[in-house]
Amino acid sequence: MAMDFKGVSEKTLVLIKPDGVQRGLIGEVLMRFERKGLKVVAMKMISLDEAVLREHYAHIADKPFFPGVSSFMQSSPVVAICLEGLEVVQAVRILCGITKARAADAGSIRGDFAMSVACNVIHASDSVETAMKEVPRFFKQDEIYEYGKSEYEHVYMEDEKN
Ligand code: ADP
Repeated sequence: MAMDFKGVSEKTLVLIKPDGVQRGLIGEVLMRFERKGLKVVAMKMISLDEAVLREHYAHIADKPFFPGVSSFMQSSPVVAICLEGLEVVQAVRILCGITKARAADAGSIRGDFAMSVACNVIHASDSVETAMKEVPRFFKQDEIYEYGKSEYEHVYMEDEKN
């Protein structure tokens, strides 16, 4: 069965980066997604290697700062999370804040918890097309759970769920 990226089944990929893990922000970041009403459908701690980082960060692989980003991303494990919800890719990017954390909006994760461009706590897929590649990059189909969430009754109107 193909992964569903439509409606309330839209999925996005989040990584809590090494600075988030080291600074004890795993719970804080997860709490923000949970209280927003997003569904956690997969989660695990993993170590990234050069090969997966070259693929994941292909769009910055030829930048002078890439070696630094690559070694930073391998400096400790990261937490990979797949979140589900209506227009979840966009919703998570808003919660995340812009790349340059010290200029990110107060209230966003990067705006509230980081100062750096590189050490900016989380990665989040930047479009539905990207998410469709990133979710399977980090999660096998059988690691992604389909389950009903009772709070959806109060998170969405009936017509938004269809
Ligand atoms: P985002 O993570 O906000 O989608 P990009 O895809 O442009 O941003 O970059 C990927 C990651 O590479 C950033 O989150 C950041 O960790 C790092 N990065 C981006 N630009 C720079 C830079 N100019 N200097 C150092 N690291 C950078």
